[in-house]
Order: sequence, then structure tokens, then C-alpha cells
Amino acid sequence: MRLTCPLCGERDRREFYYQGAAEALQRPDPQAPAQVWSDWVHLRDNPAGRTRDLWFHEAGCGAWLAVERDTVTHEIFSVERIDAG
Ligand SMILES: [Zn+2]
Repeated sequence: MRLTCPLCGERDRREFYYQGAAEALQRPDPQAPAQVWSDWVHLRDNPAGRTRDLWFHEAGCGAWLAVERDTVTHEIFSVERIDAG
């Protein structure tokens, strides 16, 4: 799979660090019960189909990217830089 970084251009996926679903940034309330926090830390969906994930261009420019892709076909729909103002 190849990702097109908005700053560096098309690169092999091995240059990127996969961080997980983009929705994972929404943390539970700080006062939420321990079980809610445990679930947030340890339980992840593994969807087949269209997803929106976070990727870090670790071996490149260091940008954080939101990548919309299909986990079955590996088609890339969009790559958006999310660390720019
Ligand atoms: Zn880059």
C-alpha cells in the first residue's frame, strides 16, 4: 500500500506509523468509570471496509495524517493533514 503525503508525495506505507482509528482521539470523560477507560484503551474495532485512520509520517516530514481507505481493497480515498492550523 502507498500513501500520498500532502508534503512529501507518494510513499510506501512502511514510512508511516499507524496510530488507529481517527475516532480514538475522543477520550472518555476524565471522571468515567475505570471499565470505560479500560475499554477505550484496549478494545478496538477491526472493520472490513471503509475507515478513517490516523497515520504519522515517521520516516518523512513528521506530519499527522487522516487517511480514508478501504481495508479490504486497499483503495485510498483521501489523505488529509491534520496537524496544520
Ligand atoms: Zn510527509
